[in-house]
Amino acid sequence: MKTKSRTLPMTTSPRLPLPTARLALLALLLAGGVATVRAADPAPATPAPTPEPAAAPAPATPPARVEGTRIDIESQLRDAMNSGDPTKKKLNLLIDRKSAAGGLSPGSPPPLNPVDHLQREPGLVIRQQRSAPAPAPKPAAPVYKNIPWSYEGEGGPGRWAQLKPEFSTCASGQRQSPIAIDDADTLKGPAEAIAFNYAPSSGTVVNNGHTIEVQLSGENSLTVRGQTYRLQQFHFHHPAEERINSRVYPMVAHFVHRSDAGQLAVLAVLLEEGPPNPLIQKVWTHMPLDVKDHVPLPADLIHVGEILPRDQRYYQYMGSLTTPPCTEGVLWLILKQPASISAEQLRLFGQLYPNNARPVQSLNGRPVRDALLIAPGGRP
Ligand SMILES: [Zn+2]
Repeated sequence: MKTKSRTLPMTTSPRLPLPTARLALLALLLAGGVATVRAADPAPATPAPTPEPAAAPAPATPPARVEGTRIDIESQLRDAMNSGDPTKKKLNLLIDRKSAAGGLSPGSPPPLNPVDHLQREPGLVIRQQRSAPAPAPKPAAPVYKNIPWSYEGEGGPGRWAQLKPEFSTCASGQRQSPIAIDDADTLKGPAEAIAFNYAPSSGTVVNNGHTIEVQLSGENSLTVRGQTYRLQQFHFHHPAEERINSRVYPMVAHFVHRSDAGQLAVLAVLLEEGPPNPLIQKVWTHMPLDVKDHVPLPADLIHVGEILPRDQRYYQYMGSLTTPPCTEGVLWLILKQPASISAEQLRLFGQLYPNNARPVQSLNGRPVRDALLIAPGGRP
């Protein structure tokens, strides 16, 4: 049996505890097949200890002394440590590199023990351990940029998801808004009319840094699909975010409604150039020019019904907020007939917000409903 000697000097630590010795032993055994341990006092005949366990030649003579007669590793180590000066001990390891299976493959006889030349059951024999596969490297945690979202540059729409963890839906969402609608791809059919319940209301005009927004108080709601949504606020995008049959309107007004259950419904009123819009005129008159500025509106000044077109056929689809965090589950109702806005009204908003439109998002197979002839109460 060809063996290889490894010598461990045990003099570096004055009181080498046994568990430490076993650990060092196990570490060495990982490289070999069958191992035999002899703990012995240093003897004059023993070659000088080799600091590195590399290529020490196999000793021609057996060790000078074997502590005890027991052959299991732990007993031999205990015997060795219990007699003489433990700080003067050294550990010889004999490792068989030939028997890869360590003599322990099923059905094979136990290996010969080099101490007593008998076949011994494991105790002196340690299987080579397979090294555990290296754990897969963790993907690097995304680094979020601490800059505000915007419509261009580093905080622009293509990078919203990289700005904050809570904006991740802007990139990963599969039902995002706005979308391009093509009449040829819509589901045409009758649909119930949207029932609008708007009344003169008070409110506040806010320049929030992304748009001009009117926050309303008062009883304003719409009802569709058996659900009533209360109007929270309306705001504007320049140009319009929705693309209808490849056409881009110069502006759109979004009326954001919320049901008591928390579901959002956004009514979109497209704006095309023409006569001045009375509702927009009231808002622009109180438009705050500085970001974060608020201007309260006179009582009952705003009647949202003023801006609704006569023809109230609409497109309907499920989408998202078009601004971070791009929350999905939003019911979109886009009136097909645009309302009017004058060139002067357009110009004023465009000076504040030349571009505050998110690009169109992938439809991902979502159906878009084209609600045909409808009337209040559902009569054609
Ligand atoms: Zn909007």
